Amino acid sequence: MIKVGIPRALLYYQYYPMWKTFFEELGAEVVVSPPTTQTMLGEGSARVVADTCLPVKIFLGHVLSLVEKSDYLFIPAIRSVKRKTYNCSKFLGLPDMTRAVIPESPPILDIDIDINKAKHELYQAIYRLGRHFTWNPLKVRQASITAWQTHLSYRELMSSHGLTPPQAIEKLFGLPEAEPKISPSYPASTQATIAIIGHPYLLYDEHVNHRLIHRLEQAGNRVLTPEMLTMEELESAIAKLVGRAYWTYEEEVVGAGGHYLESRADGVIGVMTFGCGPDSVMMDMVHRRATRLRATPFMSLTLEEHTAEAGVVTRLEAFLDMIYRKKRRRVEICV
Ligand code: SF4
Repeated sequence: MIKVGIPRALLYYQYYPMWKTFFEELGAEVVVSPPTTQTMLGEGSARVVADTCLPVKIFLGHVLSLVEKSDYLFIPAIRSVKRKTYNCSKFLGLPDMTRAVIPESPPILDIDIDINKAKHELYQAIYRLGRHFTWNPLKVRQASITAWQTHLSYRELMSSHGLTPPQAIEKLFGLPEAEPKISPSYPASTQATIAIIGHPYLLYDEHVNHRLIHRLEQAGNRVLTPEMLTMEELESAIAKLVGRAYWTYEEEVVGAGGHYLESRADGVIGVMTFGCGPDSVMMDMVHRRATRLRATPFMSLTLEEHTAEAGVVTRLEAFLDMIYRKKRRRVEICV
């Protein structure tokens, strides 16, 4: 059976169920790289110039871990998934960059996704991708329909049932049931509701963020993430803050930030990496909004290779202390 490697990095958290379903429907076996380690990060960093952003270095580390384990690597070049909104340039050049810096990589299956082009170009690109596995266009069509249905179920699990991407992936593929994040019977001892905003590849890679979600939950907090919002909620928050989105991921930063600053959260944490141009602008917009509203505390956490765990823990503790104090004071005033 042909093995297709998928790196557990960058767009994995958004599209893995769809990609896995597509390749499996065409008879391939999907191999995913293991969770990020310091070795992977070191090996990925060694292949590129220091200025490259942290998530791309991690991505290359994941690619290296799949070199011996797969016949093909799936690395799409996703330009745009919504009309007139665009991905960061790093995503567009990902297949070419990988070929250039990891020449020993197995053949790369790349597909150019640009929703601004005519529909037939997208269909042709999907057929070209499917042809590596079958010459039957009907089979490719059916695989892409099933994959899209899986993607919709994945989104639904996150927005309606309050699951994070790793939990939704577990639930979809029959691994042990994941506990829903938001449930009406959430323990009364919940200290606070904290929203975290940022790209999924930062929020759910525990090596990069030093187990941020786990730490918040262990301290008795309820955690909200961008995926738990519906598209309508995200779009309406973006419209309020910036009018029209330019970047694809304005939803997970500006949309989620704008929404949580005005509802449901006691505090908002923005997670970004050092050297990311789009994030520095988007996170600043959310920060300014928080300052203007003066209602919900906001903290931005900038991560890089040398971010020490102790630094993250200290900032987190200080932020949570401030929120708990604010909540206590509110209760005292009401009493
Ligand atoms: S959006 Fe920022 S962090 Fe993500 S790939 Fe682009 S530069 Fe890197």
